Amino acid sequence: MDCLFCKIVAGGIPARIAYQDSDVVAFHDIAPQAPVHILIVPREHLSGLSALTTEHSALLGAIHEAANTIARQEGIADSGYRLVVNNGPHAGQTIFHLHYHLLGGAQLGRFGA
Ligand code: 5GP
Ligand code: ZN
Repeated sequence: MDCLFCKIVAGGIPARIAYQDSDVVAFHDIAPQAPVHILIVPREHLSGLSALTTEHSALLGAIHEAANTIARQEGIADSGYRLVVNNGPHAGQTIFHLHYHLLGGAQLGRFGA
């Protein structure tokens, strides 16, 4: 499949891996928007939030648990962090493999509009 994040998950394209387990791979964003900007990517190819069903509830739990683990690992668990998913054109989604942006390490602005 011609998907950049599938290739990163498979190890075919290099990335700075921050964390991985049997459900997800997390790596540093190539164009960070905050001091900590890590992408949490399920190993399974899903095009985005809108592809999720109740069948993915365990995966969603694993993603959120990974986010908390990575936040602790990166030293931002107490200072705070944000999880963001862009879905579709108005949200500016550019990679159509589900990914959660984990952002922190500085005071973040409020949401864009
Ligand atoms: P989206 O805009 O779909 O929500 O997020 C895609 C993110 O992937 C962007 O923040 C972009 O900087 C990041 N990105 C795009 N290509 C690469 C890449 O080859 N490597 C890494 N590490 N991040 C990438
Ligand atoms: Zn993919």
